[in-house]
Order: sequence, then C-alpha cells, then structure tokens
Amino acid sequence: MSAAAGLEAVRADLMRDLDPGALVTDRSELGTYECDGLTHLATVPALVVLARDAGEVRRAVAACASHGVPFVARGAGTGLSGGAVPVADGVLVVTAKMRRILEVDVDNERCVVEPGVANLDVTRACAPYGYYYAPDPSSQQVCSIGGNVAENSGGAHCLKHGFTTNHVTGLDIVTPDGEMVGLGGKALDSPGYDLVGAIVGSEGTLGVVTSVTVRLSRAPEAVYTLLAGFADTDTAG
Ligand SMILES: Cc1cc2nc3c(=O)[nH]c(=O)nc-3n(C[C@H](O)[C@H](O)[C@H](O)COP(=O)(O)OP(=O)(O)OC[C@H]3O[C@@H](n4cnc5c(N)ncnc54)[C@H](O)[C@@H]3O)c2cc1C
Repeated sequence: MSAAAGLEAVRADLMRDLDPGALVTDRSELGTYECDGLTHLATVPALVVLARDAGEVRRAVAACASHGVPFVARGAGTGLSGGAVPVADGVLVVTAKMRRILEVDVDNERCVVEPGVANLDVTRACAPYGYYYAPDPSSQQVCSIGGNVAENSGGAHCLKHGFTTNHVTGLDIVTPDGEMVGLGGKALDSPGYDLVGAIVGSEGTLGVVTSVTVRLSRAPEAVYTLLAGFADTDTAG
C-alpha cells in the first residue's frame, strides 16, 4: 500500500471510530502542530488526533499499525529535542486533552493522572494534603506529565530527589501495535524487568502513555531562603 493510500485508510477508520472533533484535518490548523520547542525543525503532519481518553489513543495507534502509517506522540509541545516533530505522511497523536487527575492516594503517597495533566497541576492536586510532586522542569506550568515521562524531565528539586524516573511507579501505555498494557503499579518496585524504567526517557518511541502513577513527596514543614557567596562556580559546586 502506498503512503497516501495508507493515510487515506487511517483517516477513514478514524472518521468512523472517533468523534469528528478529535480529528484535525484542515491544512492551516495542522500547521499549529508542525514543531515542538525546537522550532527550526518543522514538518506539518498529515493528520492530528486530539485524543480524549486511552480508548481513542488505542484506536488511533491501532489504525496506524494496521495500515503501516507512522505516528508520533505529543503532549504540550514544549520539548526542546524535537521528539514531538511529526512525520509528513504520518499521524500526530496528541494527549494534551487527557487532563484528568484520576486518583490522589494520600495513604500510599501516590497520584494517578492522565498524561496531559500539566506537571504543576499534580502538586496543586496534592498540596491540600501536605504533599508535592518533586520533578520540576522550569516549563512545569504547561508541560505535560506524559512528556515528562518520555523525556525523564526534571529541575532543581531533582538534584536532591531524583528525576522523573525516580518518581514514576506505574504506567499504562498503548504499544505501537495498538495493544493496551499496564506496567508497574503503586509499589516502588514490581517483580520482573523494570519496564517502567525502560519507558521513562524513551522519547515516545516505545508507546503512547495513557496514565501515570507518580510518587508524592511530603511538602517541607518550613521553607527558608539563604544567600551564600562563593568565589567561583567550582567552589560553589
Ligand atoms: C521554557 C522551557 C523550559 C524548559 N525547562 C526544562 C527543564 O527545566 N527541565 C527539563 O527536563 N525540560 C525542560 N524543558 C523541556 C520540556 O518542557 C520537557 O522536556 C517536557 O517534559 C516536555 O513535555 P511536553 O508535554 O511539552 O512534551 P512534548 O514536547 O509534547 O513531547 C516531548 C516528547 O515526549 C513524547 N510524548 C509526549 N506525550 C507522550 C505520551 N503521552 N506518551 C508517550 N510519549 C509522549 C513526544 O513524542 C516527545 O518525544 C523546557 C522547555 C521550555 C520551552
């Protein structure tokens, strides 16, 4: 099947299976998705799926798999390494609309979220219970947890507390052939291979994440600001 015929078949499948509002087909609207934060790499995708739940992600990926069409996952599009740059004859599967906080499990210090939830919104959801989510990329007001997982993102807190990989215990993913798979859970370590660890940092190449179980950290009882002066950066380090 030619690339054009494959795309046409995917488009037909998804127009039948998804709500029309979930598909972006208009050329000018598709241009919105041509790049991530690495703006000099730009490619307009052939089709964009704005998935609203794991089932829609699965249907989009399964359609691509069965017609041999490439797809790329995208969260909020703030990545600086070009991971969310689309393929011209392919489908962009966007998880930014999947923004539900599914569970705040204070007893087990876990939170289960959809991948489109903004990083800072995890902290906002658990702050009333005295907790926060430690990985803090400076884009945390807008970047999505799904993107954080794919990039193993982090910020200043991570110097002490570890990066995203140290704070994710469970994942639901849709594999590239369209199968839904649950990995890990709420326990710190699950028996068998560390497949959660393999997915974190894999830049979306091993599947599309549809839910993330993260560790919550206790908020400090007090915060003080200190100023210390050093002669040079080596000494400060
Ligand atoms: C101003 C600014 C400051 C930044 N500061 C930091 C920082 O301090 N630390 C840091 O680590 N990064 C930083 N970044 C980079 C970026 O914000 C992070 O990499 C962030 O994790 C990307 O999240 P996103 O939702 O925007 O992902 P996107 O850019 O949409 O995608 C990034 C990668 O994740 C994949 N992906 C997205 N969603 C999914 C999903 N549901 N399933 C599977 N794969 C998926 C994509 O395919 C792509 O490979 C910064 C960016 C900007 C613009």
